[in-house]
Amino acid sequence: MYTPKLAVIMVGDNPASQAYVNGKKRDCEDCGIEFKLIHFDKNVKQITVEKTIRELNEDDSVNGILVQLPLPKHLNKQAIINTIDFDKDVDCFKELSLGYLFLNRPIFKPCTPSGIIELLKFYNIPIAGQNCVIIGRSDIVGKPLALMLINEGATVTVCHSQTKDLKYHTTHADIVICAVGQPKFLTADMIKEGAVVIDVGINRDEQDKLCGDADFENLKNKASAITPVPGGVGLMTRAALMQNMLNTTW
Ligand code: NAP
Repeated sequence: MYTPKLAVIMVGDNPASQAYVNGKKRDCEDCGIEFKLIHFDKNVKQITVEKTIRELNEDDSVNGILVQLPLPKHLNKQAIINTIDFDKDVDCFKELSLGYLFLNRPIFKPCTPSGIIELLKFYNIPIAGQNCVIIGRSDIVGKPLALMLINEGATVTVCHSQTKDLKYHTTHADIVICAVGQPKFLTADMIKEGAVVIDVGINRDEQDKLCGDADFENLKNKASAITPVPGGVGLMTRAALMQNMLNTTW
C-alpha cells in the first residue's frame, strides 16, 4: 500500500496560520495521509525556505508541498511558491499551475474554488448558463473561481472595491459568491429572490464569533440556498486539499 505525504511550510507564529496548519494535520490523519511540518522562525531567509522546498521536491516520499500564507513581508511569496515542483503544487498557487488552470487543464485545482464548485454540483445547482457574480478578485479565490466557473459554462461577473453599483450586479445574479472579508457585507436587499449564496468570508463579529460575509439570518429566507460559516466553504476547501493529495498518487 502507498501512503501519500503532504509537507507544509510555515513561517512565524501567526495564530490563524497555526490553526489552519493544525486543521490540515488533522485532515491528513483522518484521510490516512502522512503529514510533515517544517516550521521556520519569522526571520528565516528567503534562500533557506527555497532550499528546503528544493529538497522536498527531490524527496520521492513527499507528494504535495504547500506554503502556509501569509508570509512575513521580507519574504518574496511568489518566488517561494514558484520553487515548488509543478507536480507537487497541491494548492495550485505557482505561476505555471495558474497558467495550466487558465487553459483548463490543471493537475490540481485551487482548493477554495474547487470546493465551491463541488458543493454546487453536490446539491445539483446548475452552473452552466447561470449568471454568477463573484465579489472579490483575490488571486486565491475570486480570479481562479472566475476561470473555473467560465470553464463550467457560467456567465461570470467579477466585482471588487471599484465596481460601480455593486447591487445592480448582485441583484441580477443566479449565484452570488462573496469573498470580501467583512461581516454582514452581503445583505438581503442585494440578491434576487431564490438566488444561491456562497459565503467565502471568514471573519470575527463583535462577539468574536466566527462569521462569514453574508447577513445569514436575513438572507436565508430569500435565497434558495446559502452556505453557513462555519461549516460551509471552509470545510469544502479542506476537503479539496485532501482530494488533491489523493490525486497525487494516481
Ligand atoms: P482579499 O485579498 O482579502 O480581498 C478582498 C476582496 O474584496 C478584494 O478583491 C476587494 O477589492 C474586495 N472588496 C473589498 N471591499 C469591497 C467593497 N466595498 N465592494 C466590493 N468589493 C470589495 O480576498 P480573499 O483572500 O479572497 O479573502 C476574502 C475573505 O475570504 C476573507 O474573509 C478570507 O478570510 C476568506 N477566505 C476564506 C477561505 C475559505 O476557505 N473559506 C479561503 C480564502 C479566503 P479590491 O481588489 O478592489 O481591493
